[in-house]
Amino acid sequence: MRTIIEPFRIKVVEPIRLSTRREREKLLREAGYNVFLIDAEHITFDFLTDSGTGAMSAAQWGRLMVGDESYAGSTSFRRFEKVVRELTGKKHIIPTHQGRAAESILFSVTVDETKYVPNNCHFDTTRANVEFRKGHAVDLVVDECHQPQLDAPFKGNIDLNKLEKFIERVGPANIPMGFLTVTNNTGGGQPVSMRNIRETKELLGKYGIPLFLDACRFAENAYFIKLREKGYENTPVREIAQEIFSYADGCTMSAKKDGFGNIGGFLAMNDDELAMKARNMLILTEGFPTYGGLAGRDLEALAQGLVEILDENYLQYRLACVRYLGVGLNKMGIPTIQPPGGHAIYIDAKAFLPHIPQGEYPGQSLTAAMYLEGGIRAVEIGSVMFGKPDPDDPGKEIPAEMELVRMAVPRRVYTQSHIDYVLESMEGVVKTKDELRGCRITWQPPFLRHFTARFEPV
Ligand SMILES: *Cc1c(COP(=O)(O)O)cnc(C)c1O
Repeated sequence: MRTIIEPFRIKVVEPIRLSTRREREKLLREAGYNVFLIDAEHITFDFLTDSGTGAMSAAQWGRLMVGDESYAGSTSFRRFEKVVRELTGKKHIIPTHQGRAAESILFSVTVDETKYVPNNCHFDTTRANVEFRKGHAVDLVVDECHQPQLDAPFKGNIDLNKLEKFIERVGPANIPMGFLTVTNNTGGGQPVSMRNIRETKELLGKYGIPLFLDACRFAENAYFIKLREKGYENTPVREIAQEIFSYADGCTMSAKKDGFGNIGGFLAMNDDELAMKARNMLILTEGFPTYGGLAGRDLEALAQGLVEILDENYLQYRLACVRYLGVGLNKMGIPTIQPPGGHAIYIDAKAFLPHIPQGEYPGQSLTAAMYLEGGIRAVEIGSVMFGKPDPDDPGKEIPAEMELVRMAVPRRVYTQSHIDYVLESMEGVVKTKDELRGCRITWQPPFLRHFTARFEPV
């Protein structure tokens, strides 16, 4: 087989800023060893997130010019609505400015302190939006998901036994809907199988509970099904995506992921009464139902993006690109969650840097080392993000379960030689890994400290 190429030519370019090691040393020190606090112009390769960071196509940029900015009934909305309806099969299409706005609206009309929402794994904004309404967000992913080194095809599946026991325990009347996140971002970008989606629908249906999808990466999930699930080898990925949505009663979507948008999202559903309530909230918080939180031109770009995302050459390149990064890291002895996910690689910093105790944040040290070595920005998902004060000893902390560093790959942005450069830089990190020290926090805010905390090496 030949090299899987970037299936696009480059028409518009954006310079990548290169910096010297000495400059990066200074910037890192000034940023308190927290890469969130370094300005983007000083980053060479940015793997902080794949959300809204993708490259739009020439066709998408072209659509921007024909955006209809009418307040009501804009033709751009009708175009967007048609594309989303053909994809999802849902009756009501409600545009929002991003995924969390769709979640906020949905849960504000369905969840209160008596309600439970099961999911394979809630993404953090989804969980926060359930909990903000005092509801209970419960993760019921298969146990395989908790074994980082296990290579299994569908580690994003929900555990149907756990789900049935859960429904029996809390009672179907207290579950406004069940959720499946495709792919399972929190669990490593791992896909959910078609069989699992179908069986989840059947189980929920038995109890009269609707199924919603957190559909942010539906296209990557659909392509994983094509590659890994028997019976789908020859099905066009568009049909696979349509089948995924056919089992759902509704969905929330961040179009900053598999919508190829820099901003945007939507909520879709069949239930008329629920849609009416959601639209009332939409008008209150986002905007009129035919633009939601978006400009007409954004709706145009998304309508085009949602078609392009299902191009199989693109999806083949997309998954190959992420895998190439993961395999490259593994070859030099850097352990990552297996198998590579659809949008990101997760480095196991605890296993890679066993000499740094969890209390000295091995993941944070690794993100600093990656920046220093290659101007690479990644995000710690470990004890800086999830560590909790020890109730028995306020001076101490209970560390997170895992110390991960996530490299999320923006869509259509980096080429293979970019990834090669990143891997060469990572070799530099490997060479000096025994000298890497942990760090301690010198300042932290009361909430969400990973964004703004400052550190120093121990
Ligand atoms: C990004 C994301 C969201 C939230 O979407 P935003 O557009 O960032 O508000 C929800 N769920 C999943 C799985 C996501 O990846």
